Amino acid sequence: MTVPVISSWVGGAEFAASGRRLGEVFDPATGQVTRRVAFASRDDVGAAVAAARSAFPAWRETTPLRRARILARFRELLEVHLDELAGLVSQEHGKTQADAKGSVQRGIEVVEFACGIPHLLKGEWSEDVGKGVDCHSVLQPLGVCAGVTPFNFPAMVPLWMFPMAIACGNTFVLKPSEKVPSTALRMARLFEEAGLPAGVLNVVPGDAEAVEAILAHPDIAAVSFVGSTPIARHIYETAARTGKRVQALGGAKNHAVVLPDCELEFTADALVGAAFGSAGERCMAISAVVAVGDVADRLVERLRQKAAALRIGPGSRPGMDMGPVVTAAHREKIRGLITTGLSEGAKPVLDGRTVQPADGGAGFFLGPTILDHVTTSMTVYREEIFGPVLVVLRAPTLAAAIELVNANPYGNGTALFTGSGGAARRFEHDIQVGMVGINVAIPVPLPFFSFGGWKQSIFGALHVYGMEGVKYYTRTKAVTSRWPEASEQSKSSLAMPTLG
Ligand code: NAD
Repeated sequence: MTVPVISSWVGGAEFAASGRRLGEVFDPATGQVTRRVAFASRDDVGAAVAAARSAFPAWRETTPLRRARILARFRELLEVHLDELAGLVSQEHGKTQADAKGSVQRGIEVVEFACGIPHLLKGEWSEDVGKGVDCHSVLQPLGVCAGVTPFNFPAMVPLWMFPMAIACGNTFVLKPSEKVPSTALRMARLFEEAGLPAGVLNVVPGDAEAVEAILAHPDIAAVSFVGSTPIARHIYETAARTGKRVQALGGAKNHAVVLPDCELEFTADALVGAAFGSAGERCMAISAVVAVGDVADRLVERLRQKAAALRIGPGSRPGMDMGPVVTAAHREKIRGLITTGLSEGAKPVLDGRTVQPADGGAGFFLGPTILDHVTTSMTVYREEIFGPVLVVLRAPTLAAAIELVNANPYGNGTALFTGSGGAARRFEHDIQVGMVGINVAIPVPLPFFSFGGWKQSIFGALHVYGMEGVKYYTRTKAVTSRWPEASEQSKSSLAMPTLG
């Protein structure tokens, strides 16, 4: 069987990459290579940036209302092609079709938000900041922006970036994860079908070489990154050194704190969904539970029962709860971390290391794993596992649980399960994490708020989408104006002007 080769999308056409290495794209449910992807070289990235640069002047001059109309048509096309896009996500990532569909839908919500861009780009105006002097501000695009995205949300994370950037009047170069390139390329074609001029959005699948070319390119004004913390830090430091605007979202270790007064059944259901959905490959997955007081044993038993009942199999098969993880190498890493956890003293509640569905063939499957009596010094707690592994720690009080969460270097998401408003208020106030759920396990904000963590889960000041996204993809110009009457008396003054 011949395996199709995926190329870049530059200036509104397929772009044959200049002879660089071909990467393999797997179907994680079968372990088979289904596509090959031509990794973009430095020159290919240069061609994409040139296309974006030449499209910028006309796109900048396209009124926000006209841009919004193209975004609205794009939104329609994403809806029409929802099943097809979810299918691509599932084929290359391994998620179940229902989970993949939900993730595309969450991305479409950002496009929906960006359709309001004429309203969102309104500046501020003050009359009479001095006698006869007015001041107003306008938000203008930056130029060519770039995005580098991870494997785990092939549609949603790119949709956090390019619709916002493009709505604001920028042009864009997207470097999707080389493990899951097809969805981003399909979305770029759909955007052009919606009326987006050629060159406004360019897609260059590739590896670190393409990323380094983006970081070094003098014509790129801003870089958005989502991925693991070591690469996020590298992106932030390198791009900032060359004067680019950067937002770099990193990894996570998201804790759920469970109090004895919670609704136990509801809590256990929510935690199993948040820990094992998408095989734990979500940056907002709950990967650590902190059980407070005497709830621990009851909670762990419920978690065990519910996790053991999950149906594991190919994401394309109806009725499956959990698909495979993304690659064989990632599965080995997860297995190794579980083994290390057990050797360091964690107690196995459920061990998914050897789970393989009967017809799973060479697919990269794992079962759900729960490790109890984990401590903060164990490797399974310190490392982001990014797989279907839930660790349970125990704390005597809410205060001790908050202290434990705050000592963790990551600060992406967290959740508290309780029936107490006072405990919830205290948690919300004291916790040092960017996104907080109260009886909500995966508190991903809708696009009229913004998404982002704290601490080592982000490098850069502004979160993605929402009004922080608008701020990130624009720069503010403040204009002070005065219209003197011909008869007005004037005289030169060399003192610092004051208006008030
Ligand atoms: P990754 O950091 O390995 O890769 C992310 C992107 O960086 C990819 O496009 C990849 O090609 C590129 N890249 C990889 N190595 C590079 C290098 N040495 N130099 C330059 N570029 C490089 O992440 P991943 O495995 O694709 O995704 C999983 C990670 O992403 C997890 O850590 C997860 O928590 C994180 N994530 C975070 C968020 C968030 O919102 N904070 C969202 C999704 C995923």
